[in-house]
This record gives sequence, structure tokens and C-alpha cells, in this order.
Amino acid sequence: MRARILPITQLGEPVLRKVSRPVRSATSPAIRRLVADMIVTMKKAKGVGIAAPQVGVGRRLFVVAPQPSARYPHAPTMAPVAMINPRLVSHSKETVTGWEGCLSIPGLRGRVPRYKTVDIEFTGLDGRRYRGQLKNFVARIFQHEFDHINGRVYVDRVPDTRTFITEREYRRRVR
Ligand code: ZN
Repeated sequence: MRARILPITQLGEPVLRKVSRPVRSATSPAIRRLVADMIVTMKKAKGVGIAAPQVGVGRRLFVVAPQPSARYPHAPTMAPVAMINPRLVSHSKETVTGWEGCLSIPGLRGRVPRYKTVDIEFTGLDGRRYRGQLKNFVARIFQHEFDHINGRVYVDRVPDTRTFITEREYRRRVR
């Protein structure tokens, strides 16, 4: 069974503004297939994470998969991890402001403050519950994707809208 590249929902589609519902069975074939499809879809789009609402599915799951790419040349490399029914347990006081973009909002980048460190838990595809601490860029991806399953997008969290720049200018000026 080959994974399929799915269409990515764009800002304006209602699913991106809804609170997603929990996944009932993390180990079901349907979820395994959805995650495989999300990973190839994310890779094709050169993303470092993707949430189920971005492929039109209002369920609480996302994939975190940083790796250096044209969109994020300084990203660390991590094998894709599917995080099902994730929870943000606690976070640092300290925040870090950094650039974000979103596959559902093509062509735009903005500066977003995020917690530097987050303690999280999630269910894996094996049905087990995992706990861990994420830092810096990976913590940023988690917070970005966690927002998606709560109907939020990064532009909601940009404190200064004058920091928005286009993807073209980002590539020319920032990276
Ligand atoms: Zn996004």
C-alpha cells in the first residue's frame, strides 16, 4: 500500500479553525495510513511538521519531522514522529522569537514567540504513551502543530504584523 500525497488545506477552510477531536484508536490501520500519507505530503511540500487538519482531518494528531530544507535550512534532523492525542504538560517561562511559515498559508513568514522548552506527552502509533521534553526549534514545531489541532494558526500569534514578509523575501534576506 503506497502512501498518497494529499491536498493541503489552505487558510479559509473551516477545518483549520475547528478544535480537532481525539483519536479513538491510535493503532488502527486507518490512523497508520493517515500518518503515512501525511508524512509523504509534508515531505513533498518541504515542511517540518504537519497536522491532521492540514489534510482535512479534524483529529488530534500531527507529525513532527525537522530536517534541513530549502524552507528551513538550519533545522536539525529528526526522524518523523507521529504524535497522537498530544498534551502540552508544562513549559518554560522563557520564550524565543523565531520565523515561522505554514503549508496552509503559502508565501508568508512571520516572527512568533514560542516557549523555549515544553514538556509534552503523546500516544505513538504503537499505542504507548510517551513523555518528553522538547527544546528550541523542535519545541517550536510542536507548539505550531499543537495550535493546528486547536483551530489556531501561527499568524494569530504574531505580535507585530509588520514583521510579516513574503517567502521570496525571506529566502533573499533571512536564511
Ligand atoms: Zn502550519
